[in-house]
Amino acid sequence: MTEPLVSARNIKKYFKVKGGGTLKAVDGVSFDIYKGETLGLVGESGCGKSTTGRTLLRLYEPTGGEMIFEGKDIYKLSNSDLRKSRRDFQFIFQDPYASLNPRMTVEALVAEPLEINKIYSSQKEIHDKVIELLKLVGLSEEHASRFPHEFSGGQRQRVGIARALALNPKFIVCDEPISALDVSIQAQVINLLIELQEKLNLTYLFIAHDLSMVRYISDRVGVMYLGNMMELAPSDELYENPMHPYTIALLSAIPIADPKIQRQKQRIVLEGEVPSPIDPKDNCPFVERCPKACDQCRESKPELKEVSKGHFVACHLVK
Ligand code: SF4
Repeated sequence: MTEPLVSARNIKKYFKVKGGGTLKAVDGVSFDIYKGETLGLVGESGCGKSTTGRTLLRLYEPTGGEMIFEGKDIYKLSNSDLRKSRRDFQFIFQDPYASLNPRMTVEALVAEPLEINKIYSSQKEIHDKVIELLKLVGLSEEHASRFPHEFSGGQRQRVGIARALALNPKFIVCDEPISALDVSIQAQVINLLIELQEKLNLTYLFIAHDLSMVRYISDRVGVMYLGNMMELAPSDELYENPMHPYTIALLSAIPIADPKIQRQKQRIVLEGEVPSPIDPKDNCPFVERCPKACDQCRESKPELKEVSKGHFVACHLVK
């Protein structure tokens, strides 16, 4: 791998809660994403993975931290410089229907970022670029004059991807891009994203709660819990040799195609519920549900440490 394209350093996003208290949705998360790679981000709903993606691109103003993109700290840019840099990083949303204006044709939707950024001077150039983008995502010229409601969920997500690609970005945050789609369509959208990555040398942060799909698309995977990164490792290493008790529990719940292995597998059922992220204590975020919790876990928060090459774990018991 070469140098990182994206370096997130100690990213925090807190929200004030009505009636007092602070909701720490993202509480000091750090990771690198290298050029051309896909970093997967997984965890149960409410773990802060989507807020991490949004805060990374300043769709939410960060509470703290640094987001270094090609050597520049995006969090320090003025609004006008941020607008210029925004071309380089884009977002693909979970629900393509909610993110596309139903009154606009597909052509107008895909052309919008080109028009706002004044990329082309003539309507003919814009039209040609829109058609090129539609073809790139597996749609055709005849789809340009249609409206979002005339499309299937998978086709709408293709329109969302075409819009995200309009400004030739380098980095895309894909926020649960397949979870609103039928299972039969999910693999098609994943394969399209992989194909586009190879063709256009894209770098992805891929956020999802489906652990098997994440393994398929990601070079490395990070596991989040209660606004913190619990474990981060190359995909195969994480799935074959998970070390954090939370990752081990999450992976124990994935069904395996081979019935023999499936029978031998022990499913770990996590007791209790994900605790509230409002005013969390300064201890291990997983302590209330961890089968291995000890006094040290109740007293201090473990740091994310590299335990073998490229494998990071935040747990007092993993040395
Ligand atoms: Fe469990 Fe303690 Fe490790 Fe936290 S630090 S995951 S509570 S063993």
